Amino acid sequence: MSARRRDEPMSVKYWSFAGLMLTYWCNARCASCYLRCSPGHDERMDAGFALRIWRELIDACPHGCRIHLTGGEAFGDWGSLIELARRAQGEQLRPLEKIETNAFWATDRQIVRRRLAALDEAGMVKLVISADPYHQQFVPIARCRLLAKEAMELLGAQRVQVRWRDWLAGGCDTDALPADERESLFLHYAASGRDRMTGRATDTLAGRLAAHPAEAFEGSSCRDALLRSRHVHVGPDGLVMPGACAGIVLGRALDESISSIWRRLENDFDGRPIVGVLSRKGPAGLLDEAQAAGFRPSPDGYASKCHLCWSLRKFFAGFAGEKRFTNEIAPVWLYA
Ligand code: SF4
Ligand code: SF4
Repeated sequence: MSARRRDEPMSVKYWSFAGLMLTYWCNARCASCYLRCSPGHDERMDAGFALRIWRELIDACPHGCRIHLTGGEAFGDWGSLIELARRAQGEQLRPLEKIETNAFWATDRQIVRRRLAALDEAGMVKLVISADPYHQQFVPIARCRLLAKEAMELLGAQRVQVRWRDWLAGGCDTDALPADERESLFLHYAASGRDRMTGRATDTLAGRLAAHPAEAFEGSSCRDALLRSRHVHVGPDGLVMPGACAGIVLGRALDESISSIWRRLENDFDGRPIVGVLSRKGPAGLLDEAQAAGFRPSPDGYASKCHLCWSLRKFFAGFAGEKRFTNEIAPVWLYA
Protein backbone atom coordinates (compact mmCIF):
# COMPACT_ATOMS: atom_id res chain seq x y z
CA MET A 1 0.00 0.00 0.00
CA SER A 2 1.05 3.61 -0.50
CA ALA A 3 2.91 5.46 2.22
CA ARG A 4 1.02 8.60 1.18
CA ARG A 5 -0.50 10.62 4.04
CA ARG A 6 -4.29 10.95 3.99
CA ASP A 7 -4.12 14.68 3.19
CA GLU A 8 -1.46 14.28 0.48
CA PRO A 9 -2.78 14.50 -3.14
CA MET A 10 -2.61 11.28 -5.15
CA SER A 11 0.09 11.15 -7.81
CA VAL A 12 -2.00 8.91 -10.06
CA LYS A 13 -5.59 9.97 -10.63
CA TYR A 14 -8.23 7.27 -10.39
CA TRP A 15 -9.17 5.84 -13.77
CA SER A 16 -12.69 7.06 -14.34
CA PHE A 17 -12.80 6.78 -18.16
CA ALA A 18 -11.64 3.57 -19.82
CA GLY A 19 -11.71 2.03 -23.27
CA LEU A 20 -11.90 -1.71 -23.78
CA MET A 21 -10.07 -2.37 -27.04
CA LEU A 22 -12.03 -5.42 -28.13
CA THR A 23 -9.61 -6.27 -30.92
CA TYR A 24 -6.58 -5.01 -32.80
CA TRP A 25 -8.27 -6.17 -36.02
CA CYS A 26 -9.52 -3.51 -38.39
CA ASN A 27 -10.72 -3.53 -41.99
CA ALA A 28 -8.63 -0.35 -42.47
CA ARG A 29 -4.99 0.56 -41.96
CA CYS A 30 -5.21 4.31 -41.51
CA ALA A 31 -2.04 6.34 -41.91
CA SER A 32 -2.75 7.97 -38.54
CA CYS A 33 -3.55 4.82 -36.54
CA TYR A 34 -1.72 4.94 -33.21
CA LEU A 35 -2.26 1.20 -32.74
CA ARG A 36 -1.24 0.13 -36.25
CA CYS A 37 -4.47 -1.85 -36.54
CA SER A 38 -5.04 -3.75 -39.76
CA PRO A 39 -6.86 -6.73 -41.31
CA GLY A 40 -3.85 -8.89 -40.38
CA HIS A 41 -4.68 -8.96 -36.66
CA ASP A 42 -6.89 -11.58 -35.07
CA GLU A 43 -6.59 -10.86 -31.32
CA ARG A 44 -10.02 -10.63 -29.70
CA MET A 45 -11.08 -9.84 -26.13
CA ASP A 46 -13.55 -12.54 -25.13
CA ALA A 47 -16.74 -11.50 -23.37
CA GLY A 48 -15.85 -13.13 -20.04
CA PHE A 49 -12.54 -11.27 -19.83
CA ALA A 50 -14.12 -7.99 -20.99
CA LEU A 51 -16.82 -8.24 -18.29
CA ARG A 52 -14.25 -8.96 -15.60
CA ILE A 53 -12.15 -5.92 -16.60
CA TRP A 54 -15.28 -3.76 -16.89
CA ARG A 55 -16.37 -4.69 -13.35
CA GLU A 56 -12.86 -4.20 -11.97
CA LEU A 57 -12.56 -0.76 -13.57
CA ILE A 58 -15.83 0.31 -11.94
CA ASP A 59 -14.81 -1.14 -8.56
CA ALA A 60 -11.31 0.37 -8.64
CA CYS A 61 -12.51 3.95 -8.80
CA PRO A 62 -14.59 5.46 -5.96
CA HIS A 63 -16.61 7.45 -8.51
CA GLY A 64 -17.13 4.51 -10.89
CA CYS A 65 -15.75 4.33 -14.40
CA ARG A 66 -17.34 5.26 -17.71
CA ILE A 67 -16.59 2.56 -20.26
CA HIS A 68 -16.24 2.84 -24.01
CA LEU A 69 -15.83 -0.01 -26.47
CA THR A 70 -13.31 0.44 -29.20
CA GLY A 71 -10.67 -1.36 -31.24
CA GLY A 72 -9.37 -1.76 -33.82
CA GLU A 73 -12.86 -1.88 -35.21
CA ALA A 74 -15.39 -2.90 -32.56
CA PHE A 75 -18.04 -3.76 -35.18
CA GLY A 76 -15.74 -6.29 -36.86
CA ASP A 77 -17.55 -9.02 -34.91
CA TRP A 78 -21.10 -7.76 -34.48
CA GLY A 79 -22.31 -10.90 -32.66
CA SER A 80 -19.66 -10.53 -29.95
CA LEU A 81 -20.21 -6.79 -29.63
CA ILE A 82 -23.94 -7.01 -29.01
CA GLU A 83 -23.50 -10.01 -26.73
CA LEU A 84 -21.03 -8.05 -24.59
CA ALA A 85 -23.28 -4.98 -24.40
CA ARG A 86 -26.27 -7.13 -23.39
CA ARG A 87 -24.36 -9.14 -20.81
CA ALA A 88 -22.92 -5.95 -19.29
CA GLN A 89 -26.42 -4.53 -19.06
CA GLY A 90 -27.66 -7.78 -17.50
CA GLU A 91 -24.91 -7.52 -14.88
CA GLN A 92 -25.73 -3.84 -14.18
CA LEU A 93 -22.31 -2.69 -15.45
CA ARG A 94 -23.04 0.90 -16.30
CA PRO A 95 -22.55 3.17 -18.06
CA LEU A 96 -21.56 2.01 -21.54
CA GLU A 97 -20.68 5.54 -22.44
CA LYS A 98 -19.63 5.13 -26.06
CA ILE A 99 -18.95 2.71 -28.86
CA GLU A 100 -16.53 3.83 -31.57
CA THR A 101 -16.67 2.75 -35.20
CA ASN A 102 -15.37 3.72 -38.61
CA ALA A 103 -18.78 2.80 -40.17
CA PHE A 104 -17.34 0.24 -42.61
CA TRP A 105 -20.33 -2.02 -41.93
CA ALA A 106 -22.97 0.67 -42.66
CA THR A 107 -23.77 -0.55 -46.15
CA ASP A 108 -27.52 -0.64 -45.85
CA ARG A 109 -30.17 1.40 -44.00
CA GLN A 110 -31.96 -1.65 -42.57
CA ILE A 111 -28.77 -3.12 -41.09
CA VAL A 112 -27.84 0.24 -39.62
CA ARG A 113 -31.24 0.77 -37.98
CA ARG A 114 -31.41 -2.78 -36.65
CA ARG A 115 -27.97 -2.56 -35.03
CA LEU A 116 -28.49 0.91 -33.59
CA ALA A 117 -31.81 -0.12 -32.06
CA ALA A 118 -30.18 -3.20 -30.51
CA LEU A 119 -27.33 -1.15 -29.02
CA ASP A 120 -29.74 1.49 -27.76
CA GLU A 121 -31.74 -1.20 -26.01
CA ALA A 122 -28.53 -2.68 -24.59
CA GLY A 123 -27.63 0.63 -22.91
CA MET A 124 -25.21 2.36 -25.30
CA VAL A 125 -25.27 6.08 -24.46
CA LYS A 126 -23.36 7.49 -27.43
CA LEU A 127 -22.13 6.37 -30.85
CA VAL A 128 -18.83 7.79 -32.07
CA ILE A 129 -18.15 7.75 -35.82
CA SER A 130 -14.63 8.23 -37.16
CA ALA A 131 -14.54 10.24 -40.37
CA ASP A 132 -11.40 11.98 -41.56
CA PRO A 133 -9.10 11.98 -44.61
CA TYR A 134 -7.18 8.92 -43.33
CA HIS A 135 -10.28 6.79 -42.69
CA GLN A 136 -11.75 7.70 -46.05
CA GLN A 137 -8.88 5.96 -47.77
CA PHE A 138 -10.57 2.74 -46.63
CA VAL A 139 -14.21 3.49 -45.83
CA PRO A 140 -16.52 5.25 -48.31
CA ILE A 141 -17.69 8.51 -46.75
CA ALA A 142 -21.25 7.66 -47.83
CA ARG A 143 -21.29 4.95 -45.14
CA CYS A 144 -20.26 7.44 -42.44
CA ARG A 145 -22.96 9.82 -43.62
CA LEU A 146 -25.61 7.10 -43.70
CA LEU A 147 -24.70 5.95 -40.20
CA ALA A 148 -24.60 9.51 -38.83
CA LYS A 149 -27.99 10.35 -40.36
CA GLU A 150 -29.72 7.23 -39.08
CA ALA A 151 -28.07 7.48 -35.65
CA MET A 152 -29.15 11.10 -35.22
CA GLU A 153 -32.68 10.16 -36.18
CA LEU A 154 -32.85 7.14 -33.89
CA LEU A 155 -30.74 8.26 -30.93
CA GLY A 156 -30.89 12.05 -31.19
CA ALA A 157 -28.07 14.41 -32.15
CA GLN A 158 -26.75 14.62 -28.56
CA ARG A 159 -25.92 10.93 -28.64
CA VAL A 160 -23.92 10.98 -31.86
CA GLN A 161 -20.34 12.20 -32.04
CA VAL A 162 -18.48 12.48 -35.32
CA ARG A 163 -14.76 12.93 -35.37
CA TRP A 164 -14.43 15.14 -37.52
CA ARG A 165 -17.81 16.72 -38.20
CA ASP A 166 -16.36 19.31 -40.61
CA TRP A 167 -14.83 16.51 -42.68
CA LEU A 168 -18.09 14.52 -42.73
CA ALA A 169 -19.85 17.53 -44.21
CA GLY A 170 -17.31 18.44 -46.87
CA GLY A 171 -14.90 15.51 -47.21
CA CYS A 172 -14.46 12.93 -49.94
CA ASP A 173 -13.20 9.39 -50.54
CA THR A 174 -9.47 9.88 -50.42
CA ASP A 175 -8.70 6.53 -52.04
CA ALA A 176 -10.09 8.05 -55.24
CA LEU A 177 -7.50 10.86 -55.19
CA PRO A 178 -4.17 10.59 -57.05
CA ALA A 179 -1.52 9.42 -54.55
CA ASP A 180 0.38 12.72 -54.44
CA GLU A 181 -2.83 14.70 -53.85
CA ARG A 182 -3.87 12.31 -51.06
CA GLU A 183 -0.47 12.62 -49.43
CA SER A 184 -0.60 16.42 -49.50
CA LEU A 185 -4.06 16.34 -47.97
CA PHE A 186 -2.88 14.00 -45.19
CA LEU A 187 0.10 16.23 -44.47
CA HIS A 188 -2.07 19.32 -44.45
CA TYR A 189 -4.32 17.79 -41.77
CA ALA A 190 -1.44 16.20 -39.86
CA ALA A 191 0.27 19.60 -39.65
CA SER A 192 -2.83 21.00 -37.94
CA GLY A 193 -1.95 18.89 -34.90
CA ARG A 194 -5.24 16.98 -34.58
CA ASP A 195 -3.38 13.67 -34.45
CA ARG A 196 -0.72 12.43 -32.11
CA MET A 197 2.45 11.41 -33.96
CA THR A 198 2.75 7.83 -32.69
CA GLY A 199 2.14 4.38 -34.18
CA ARG A 200 1.69 4.26 -37.93
CA ALA A 201 1.75 8.05 -38.16
CA THR A 202 5.48 7.94 -37.41
CA ASP A 203 6.06 5.96 -40.64
CA THR A 204 3.63 7.76 -42.87
CA LEU A 205 3.34 11.35 -41.66
CA ALA A 206 5.73 12.50 -38.95
CA GLY A 207 8.90 12.46 -41.05
CA ARG A 208 7.32 14.85 -43.57
CA LEU A 209 6.28 17.49 -41.05
CA ALA A 210 8.22 20.46 -39.72
CA ALA A 211 10.88 19.06 -37.42
CA HIS A 212 12.62 20.07 -34.21
CA PRO A 213 15.83 18.71 -32.70
CA ALA A 214 15.39 16.23 -29.85
CA GLU A 215 16.73 18.77 -27.33
CA ALA A 216 13.84 21.10 -28.15
CA PHE A 217 11.60 18.89 -26.00
CA GLU A 218 13.71 19.10 -22.86
CA GLY A 219 11.73 19.97 -19.76
CA SER A 220 8.38 18.92 -21.26
CA SER A 221 7.10 16.36 -18.76
CA CYS A 222 4.38 13.82 -19.54
CA ARG A 223 2.97 13.59 -16.03
CA ASP A 224 -0.51 14.67 -17.06
CA ALA A 225 -0.80 12.24 -19.99
CA LEU A 226 0.56 9.28 -18.03
CA LEU A 227 -0.70 9.77 -14.49
CA ARG A 228 -3.31 12.52 -14.32
CA SER A 229 -5.60 12.08 -17.32
CA ARG A 230 -7.99 9.59 -15.59
CA HIS A 231 -8.16 7.74 -18.92
CA VAL A 232 -6.79 4.28 -19.77
CA HIS A 233 -7.20 1.67 -22.48
CA VAL A 234 -7.12 -2.08 -21.96
CA GLY A 235 -6.16 -4.24 -24.95
CA PRO A 236 -7.41 -7.70 -25.90
CA ASP A 237 -4.10 -8.98 -24.49
CA GLY A 238 -4.84 -7.33 -21.12
CA LEU A 239 -2.25 -4.56 -21.50
CA VAL A 240 -3.30 -1.43 -19.59
CA MET A 241 -2.07 1.71 -21.34
CA PRO A 242 -2.54 5.45 -20.74
CA GLY A 243 -5.47 6.72 -22.82
CA ALA A 244 -3.31 8.76 -25.19
CA CYS A 245 0.00 6.87 -25.13
CA ALA A 246 -0.36 3.53 -26.92
CA GLY A 247 2.54 1.15 -26.41
CA ILE A 248 3.37 2.26 -22.84
CA VAL A 249 2.31 -0.42 -20.38
CA LEU A 250 1.03 0.49 -16.91
CA GLY A 251 0.11 -3.07 -16.00
CA ARG A 252 -1.16 -6.43 -17.23
CA ALA A 253 -4.78 -7.22 -16.49
CA LEU A 254 -4.45 -10.88 -17.46
CA ASP A 255 -2.30 -11.43 -14.37
CA GLU A 256 -3.49 -8.78 -11.93
CA SER A 257 -6.68 -6.96 -10.96
CA ILE A 258 -7.20 -3.37 -12.10
CA SER A 259 -7.19 -2.00 -8.54
CA SER A 260 -3.93 -3.78 -7.81
CA ILE A 261 -2.38 -2.39 -11.03
CA TRP A 262 -3.51 1.11 -10.06
CA ARG A 263 -2.19 0.83 -6.48
CA ARG A 264 1.16 -0.50 -7.62
CA LEU A 265 1.50 2.33 -10.12
CA GLU A 266 0.69 4.91 -7.44
CA ASN A 267 3.36 3.33 -5.22
CA ASP A 268 6.21 2.82 -7.64
CA PHE A 269 5.72 4.85 -10.84
CA ASP A 270 8.59 7.16 -9.97
CA GLY A 271 11.09 4.30 -10.05
CA ARG A 272 9.89 2.83 -13.33
CA PRO A 273 12.48 3.31 -16.09
CA ILE A 274 9.97 4.45 -18.72
CA VAL A 275 6.89 5.83 -16.94
CA GLY A 276 8.97 7.35 -14.14
CA VAL A 277 11.37 9.18 -16.45
CA LEU A 278 8.64 10.28 -18.88
CA SER A 279 6.45 11.59 -16.07
CA ARG A 280 9.33 13.66 -14.66
CA LYS A 281 11.19 14.79 -17.77
CA GLY A 282 9.30 13.71 -20.88
CA PRO A 283 11.01 11.78 -23.69
CA ALA A 284 14.12 13.99 -23.68
CA GLY A 285 14.81 12.42 -20.28
CA LEU A 286 15.39 9.06 -22.00
CA LEU A 287 17.93 10.43 -24.46
CA ASP A 288 21.12 9.94 -22.44
CA GLU A 289 20.39 6.32 -21.67
CA ALA A 290 19.34 5.63 -25.26
CA GLN A 291 22.42 7.31 -26.72
CA ALA A 292 24.69 5.37 -24.39
CA ALA A 293 23.08 2.22 -25.82
CA GLY A 294 23.63 3.35 -29.43
CA PHE A 295 20.57 5.45 -30.29
CA ARG A 296 21.34 8.28 -32.72
CA PRO A 297 18.77 11.10 -32.88
CA SER A 298 17.43 11.69 -36.36
CA PRO A 299 19.31 14.49 -38.16
CA ASP A 300 15.93 15.49 -39.61
CA GLY A 301 14.52 16.10 -36.13
CA TYR A 302 11.08 15.22 -34.75
CA ALA A 303 7.62 16.52 -35.51
CA SER A 304 6.57 16.53 -31.85
CA LYS A 305 7.62 15.21 -28.48
CA CYS A 306 5.40 12.15 -29.04
CA HIS A 307 7.32 11.45 -32.25
CA LEU A 308 10.59 11.55 -30.31
CA CYS A 309 9.05 9.41 -27.57
CA TRP A 310 7.95 6.83 -30.12
CA SER A 311 11.40 6.70 -31.75
CA LEU A 312 13.07 6.13 -28.39
CA ARG A 313 10.57 3.45 -27.38
CA LYS A 314 10.99 1.77 -30.74
CA PHE A 315 14.74 1.69 -30.15
CA PHE A 316 14.23 0.17 -26.70
CA ALA A 317 11.72 -2.30 -28.15
CA GLY A 318 14.66 -3.86 -29.95
CA PHE A 319 14.49 -2.15 -33.34
CA ALA A 320 18.05 -0.99 -34.04
CA GLY A 321 19.03 -1.63 -30.45
CA GLU A 322 19.04 -4.13 -27.64
CA LYS A 323 15.56 -4.97 -26.35
CA ARG A 324 14.99 -3.33 -22.95
CA PHE A 325 12.20 -2.34 -20.59
CA THR A 326 9.89 -5.05 -21.96
CA ASN A 327 7.62 -4.64 -18.92
CA GLU A 328 6.74 -1.15 -20.03
CA ILE A 329 7.19 -1.17 -23.80
CA ALA A 330 4.70 -3.52 -25.47
CA PRO A 331 3.28 -5.06 -27.52
CA VAL A 332 6.49 -5.33 -29.51
CA TRP A 333 4.69 -5.75 -32.88
CA LEU A 334 3.29 -2.25 -32.41
CA TYR A 335 6.78 -0.86 -32.93
CA ALA A 336 7.77 -3.09 -35.85
S1 SF4 B 1 -10.24 2.73 -38.39
FE1 SF4 B 1 -9.35 3.25 -36.40
S2 SF4 B 1 -8.53 1.32 -35.62
FE2 SF4 B 1 -8.87 1.07 -37.81
S3 SF4 B 1 -6.89 1.52 -38.77
FE3 SF4 B 1 -8.15 3.39 -38.75
S4 SF4 B 1 -7.55 4.49 -36.88
FE4 SF4 B 1 -6.87 2.35 -36.65
S1 SF4 C 1 5.68 12.07 -25.32
FE1 SF4 C 1 5.22 9.90 -24.95
S2 SF4 C 1 4.50 9.76 -22.87
FE2 SF4 C 1 4.45 11.92 -23.47
S3 SF4 C 1 2.36 12.28 -24.16
FE3 SF4 C 1 3.57 11.76 -25.97
S4 SF4 C 1 3.37 9.52 -26.21
FE4 SF4 C 1 2.69 10.05 -24.13
